[in-house]
Amino acid sequence: MSVIETLGSRAAHLNTTLESASPVEVIETAIRMVPAGRLAIVSSFGTESAVLLKYVSDVDPGLPVLFLDTGMLFEETLDYRDRLVDFLGLTDVRSLKPQIDLVERRDPDRDLWLSDTDSCCHIRKVRPLSDALGAFDGWVNGRKRFHGDARASIPHVEADGRLLKFNPLAALSRKDMDTVFETEGLPRHPLEKLGFSSVGCMPCTSRTLEGEAPRAGRWRNQNRSECGIHRIGLPAGAGCGC
Ligand code: SF4
Repeated sequence: MSVIETLGSRAAHLNTTLESASPVEVIETAIRMVPAGRLAIVSSFGTESAVLLKYVSDVDPGLPVLFLDTGMLFEETLDYRDRLVDFLGLTDVRSLKPQIDLVERRDPDRDLWLSDTDSCCHIRKVRPLSDALGAFDGWVNGRKRFHGDARASIPHVEADGRLLKFNPLAALSRKDMDTVFETEGLPRHPLEKLGFSSVGCMPCTSRTLEGEAPRAGRWRNQNRSECGIHRIGLPAGAGCGC
């Protein structure tokens, strides 16, 4: 049995035991299962990020939080990141930036997103996260099943290449999320009140219309709903050849 198959079996077993677990229980399990210092939280500091980060801060505000600063984000997101870090007392938030030489070579005019979103996301998101995760054995993210599409059936734990990947919020509903915001007094992303239900890079984010899925405003009119960091088998630390 290969290492990947072994990790897959371990993830499947963990997932069975965590089927009805709360977000905090999933995070606590992640901390127990992954060697000390080898577990990372990944956050976009988007409209729903405060909920996962609140649970993380309750368990251990010193866990490393990786934030992809693509260079194409809204200023409001950067301000919100700083506000949430202060509000929750997070002590190890790391901003990951794309390699300057790679961006200069592949996207000198910063318009690659117009012609090739796969490559743009690769150099600005997938590659930096892949490189950073080389220093970790597990990661935690904030995807929810109610987002639909590829997220509709995500488990609490899955194997992601050589890493264990934890989805503590998988089973939460939109209403659950709102309840946490209200009961904990969490600040909202400033763009939410302007109609953005999901916020990523500026060129690839639009407002969501009444009745649309939460992520409908991302890569609108393109056959795309994810940037690539959530495709199974992210080659952490392996580089990507670009
Ligand atoms: S979301 Fe858009 S701008 Fe951001 S990295 Fe992907 S293609 Fe580029």
